[in-house]
Amino acid sequence: MTDSSSNLGCLPIEAAAPKARRSRQASVTWGPRTVTIGGDAPVRVQSMTNTDTVDAIGTAIQVKELALAGSELVRITVNTPEAAAQVPYIREQLDRMGVDVPLVGDFHYNGHRLLTEFPACAEALSKYRINPGNVGKGDKRDRQFGQMIDAAMRWNKPVRIGVNWGSLDQELLASLMDTNSRRAEPWDAKQVMYEALITSAIESARLAESMGMDGNQIILSCKVSGVQDLISVYRELAKRCDYALHLGLTEAGMGTKGTVASATALSILLQEGIGDTIRVSLTPQPGESRTQEVVIANEILQALGLRVFVPSVTACPGCGRTTSTTFQELAKQIDDYLRMQMPLWRTRYPGVETMKVAVMGCIVNGPGESKHADIGISLPGTGEAPAAPVFIDGEKALTLRGDDIAREFHKLVENYVEKRFGGEHAAQAV
Ligand code: SF4
Repeated sequence: MTDSSSNLGCLPIEAAAPKARRSRQASVTWGPRTVTIGGDAPVRVQSMTNTDTVDAIGTAIQVKELALAGSELVRITVNTPEAAAQVPYIREQLDRMGVDVPLVGDFHYNGHRLLTEFPACAEALSKYRINPGNVGKGDKRDRQFGQMIDAAMRWNKPVRIGVNWGSLDQELLASLMDTNSRRAEPWDAKQVMYEALITSAIESARLAESMGMDGNQIILSCKVSGVQDLISVYRELAKRCDYALHLGLTEAGMGTKGTVASATALSILLQEGIGDTIRVSLTPQPGESRTQEVVIANEILQALGLRVFVPSVTACPGCGRTTSTTFQELAKQIDDYLRMQMPLWRTRYPGVETMKVAVMGCIVNGPGESKHADIGISLPGTGEAPAAPVFIDGEKALTLRGDDIAREFHKLVENYVEKRFGGEHAAQAV
């Protein structure tokens, strides 16, 4: 016979928790509002539109969709004079629609000209993204980079110095390759590329600081498309500087592949405390909403316990004990419903995002899992009596029967939200 009590003498297992890397903190402002990135701020979610910025209304509508899905900053392409001219109108439209989100301008090649020639655009944006690989070559490089930094200082905007391996500064890469070839034991090409990415970001940040830019207002990113590459680069980048870091796998791809690759890379780094703001660069499937990238970014942070955005739905995978799809349909309906309600619920029912709902397929784990949730239902599996017990706050509250179980459970969830999170709204309703 084993003495199980002797195991209790061991050290308790520590709960896993992401570490913290204390970075500098940037402030992104629009009108009287501010969102901070880095320092003690929560990891921020951002996204990017795929509309033509010249289409101000279409762009404003997509920004609104992304913001309602939970994006805390939205980046738009500013690639031509026509696009730059529309930026103030996009900001105006958003303010008119009550969309409370800052706009980030994405600049390549001509950002120095656009930010100088379109001051209303420079003012309407809340942050600029500068790609040091695309600001110009030779002696133009520092001058044009300097023009963008000047605009950021003039309008008091933070910048993201965003290096991407698809547009890496080729002069810098060539010079590092040259140095490498003279080493007694040269590094492999991949290591030189990592070094070039990190050097490009950090040297550009130091150059911006030497021009007078406040280091707190500089955010860095070094995006690559391979999971292991991203982890290696960001671990090193985090070691070498204390700038706030924008984290994301570039060109992650479509659907499951892009989702899994992004979640894997970002989770490993976030667990190590690396990353102050994230973007999931997902190629939408045909007909898929652009907001999917925001949903995934939110889910990554929520799964890691770093942020809470929406109530969670625990659902079992189903098995041979369930012959109908009722519980799958109910789980999906509840999940969709909760997400749809969040833009309104966020203000009306503070704390509702922490709610846990369970939708389970049979008696094996159904009642147990439902008791762990705030509200849960255990649907009848094959051979069980056609009854679905509902558990509220850990206690069996009632049993639903008949063909209308889904609708009735939906109503119970609504009532629970109103009663538990309604505060004065609930009191007024009574
Ligand atoms: S709870 Fe029941 S239906 Fe769901 S996976 Fe477990 S055994 Fe299967």
